[in-house]
Amino acid sequence: MKKIYLDNNATTALDPRVIEAMQEVLTPLPFNSSSVHSFGQESKKLLTKSRDTIAHAFHVKPQEIIFTSGGTEALNLLLRGFYTPGAHILTSNVEHPAVRETLQALEKQGAKVTYLPAGLWGAVQPYQIEEALTPETRLIVLMAANNITGVKTGINAIAQIAHQRNIPFIVDGVQILGKELFHILPGVSAMAFSGHKLHGPTGIGLAFVRSSFKLTPQITGGSQEYGRRAGTENLMGIVGLAKAIELLAVELPAATKRMETLRNKLTQSLMNNLGDIVIHGQGPRICNTVHIGFPGIDGETLLLQLDLAGIAASHGSACTSGGLEPSPVLLNMQIPASLARTSIRFSLSRNTTEQEIDTTIELVTQLINKQKRNP
Ligand code: PLP
Repeated sequence: MKKIYLDNNATTALDPRVIEAMQEVLTPLPFNSSSVHSFGQESKKLLTKSRDTIAHAFHVKPQEIIFTSGGTEALNLLLRGFYTPGAHILTSNVEHPAVRETLQALEKQGAKVTYLPAGLWGAVQPYQIEEALTPETRLIVLMAANNITGVKTGINAIAQIAHQRNIPFIVDGVQILGKELFHILPGVSAMAFSGHKLHGPTGIGLAFVRSSFKLTPQITGGSQEYGRRAGTENLMGIVGLAKAIELLAVELPAATKRMETLRNKLTQSLMNNLGDIVIHGQGPRICNTVHIGFPGIDGETLLLQLDLAGIAASHGSACTSGGLEPSPVLLNMQIPASLARTSIRFSLSRNTTEQEIDTTIELVTQLINKQKRNP
C-alpha cells in the first residue's frame, strides 16, 4: 500500500537535497565553530555560510539571525527576551501553545495579556489591534498563519500600526515559511521559524531579531549567537535549515500555486460529493491547508479509517487521558464542539501529487457515505 501524507503542518519529509547538504557535516570530523584550530575554522566557515544564506533569503543582516532548537525555543526566547515587567501584551486566542503557554507563564510574572478573539474569521484583524492598544501596550505577538486552519493574519497592516506606535511586534512565522514568499516589513521586530515545517530537519529553528531591539538571553553560557543563545551550535541542523530555506527561493512561487490548486481540488470535490461540509476559517488561508467539518460524522473514527487505508491527516486535537478533546483553536473560534469533533485537517506539501489528492477524495467520500449509512 502506497502511503499518502497529508499532515504537513505537523512536520514535513526531509528534502533529499537537504540530506545531501547535511552529509557534509555528518562525517567523523570534529565540528565546533568556537574552536580556534583548523577543524574549528572549518565549522565556523559552514556556520557563517549558512547564516549568510538565510540572511540573504530574508533580506536581513546575518547578526539578526539567532539559531535555536526550533520554533518553540525561538518563540520563548523572543517573548521572554522582549518582556518588560508588568507590560501589556496583545495577542490572539488562536496562537500555538508555544506562544499561549509562554504568555501564561509571563502572566504569572505580572504581564497583562489581552487574548483578542479570532472568531469564525480565524485570525485577529488589524482594526481589533487598533482598538485594543493602550498606553501600556509594550508588545504585540501574532502568528502569520494558523497551524490548525491555515488562516493568515494581516501581518503587513499590523506591522504598520506597530511601526507608527513604536510597539515591538513579534511574528510567529513557523507556518508561513515554506508556504509562500513574504517580506519582513520594518514594523516587524522579530520572527520565529522552524526547520521541520519546510522539508528541513527537526530540532533546529531560528529567531530573527531586528538589530535595533535589545533581547535578554534566556540560555546563558558561552558567547555563541552573538551572546544571545549560549551552547555549541547544532551545525548539521543549521546547514540543513539553510539549504531548506535556500531551496524556497527557487521552488516557492510554483510550489505555492501547485499546492493551492490541489488543495482547492480536494475541497471542491469533497463539497460536490458530500454537499454539507464546513470549511473552518473564513479569512484567506495559506495554500496548503484546509480544515473541514463533516457534520454528523465522527472525525476520530474517520481519521483512524483513513490511517488504516494509508492516508495520514490530523484533527489538531489535544490528547487528554485516553480521550481526544476537540481542537482548542476551533473552540476558541466559537465553532461548536459537536462540529469541531467531526473535523479533519488536510495539509499538503510541495511533494503532494494530484493522484494522491484524487485517491484521498475517493476514499474520504466512500468512508463518509459508509458512516452515514451505518451511523
Ligand atoms: N508555531 C506554530 C504556528 C507551529 O505550527 C509550531 C509547530 O507546530 C510551532 C510554533 C512550534 O515549532 P517547533 O515544532 O519547531 O517547536
